[in-house]
Amino acid sequence: MERWELPPEVPGELERRPPYACPRCTGNRASFTLAWPILWSVRKDAHSGHITALRAGPSLAAGAGDEPEITVRCELCGFAGPEAMFIAAARRQPPPAGPVQPL
Ligand SMILES: [Zn+2]
Repeated sequence: MERWELPPEVPGELERRPPYACPRCTGNRASFTLAWPILWSVRKDAHSGHITALRAGPSLAAGAGDEPEITVRCELCGFAGPEAMFIAAARRQPPPAGPVQPL
């Protein structure tokens, strides 16, 4: 099977996401785990389960308006949810004065 590679612009796209804040513990604005599903359209052998053909992919999951479908987990309290919840929480709460220290 040929080597499958993700598009090279991915790390840059993650870097450019808006600020996050945890909607549950509200104190965390700096330490998160991101999950961004990778989609592969495959055809499998019905008996062995081996992939016989790659029809499309790899591609990163996109939601409405072509926004990346990222799940964010707060490393402080463990709350996980769609990225939009964390972005909305950051907009509701202005960041504290001064630099925010990551964990
Ligand atoms: Zn939290």
